[in-house]
Amino acid sequence: MKHYARFEAGEPSTWSAWEFQHPAFARPARGKLFLAERLGLTGMEISLNTFARGAAMPFLHTHREHEEVYLFLSGRGEFQVDGERVEVAPGTAVRVAPRGKRAWRNTGDAPLLFVVIQAREGSISYNTIADGEHVEGAVTW
Ligand code: ZN
Repeated sequence: MKHYARFEAGEPSTWSAWEFQHPAFARPARGKLFLAERLGLTGMEISLNTFARGAAMPFLHTHREHEEVYLFLSGRGEFQVDGERVEVAPGTAVRVAPRGKRAWRNTGDAPLLFVVIQAREGSISYNTIADGEHVEGAVTW
């Protein structure tokens, strides 16, 4: 049994070519790539995102059950949850509870690159370090 999946999203500078068709909107969103289907994820969704200079989310959204983490990789931006604003920059991680009303925008002069991870709130049953198990066998390359 194969215990991994691999997908190449390409260089971040090319991510703006990805399109995502949300069922509620007429036109696809650009620069958003979901990985769950491509990797066969079963316990989380991950998306790779690039937001062009000057781009801003035109609506707020919440989730029914999933918490989200927005992990910013490059660029500058502003994030809001329930009307409270925070600055985001490379290395910023923002966790949003399911019911938080969220939006974000690029306030810099370069693309805003970020990864969004969503998972069911409360779904991790115990410490993630304790979940790892040492196995026998030497590492070979
Ligand atoms: Zn979301």
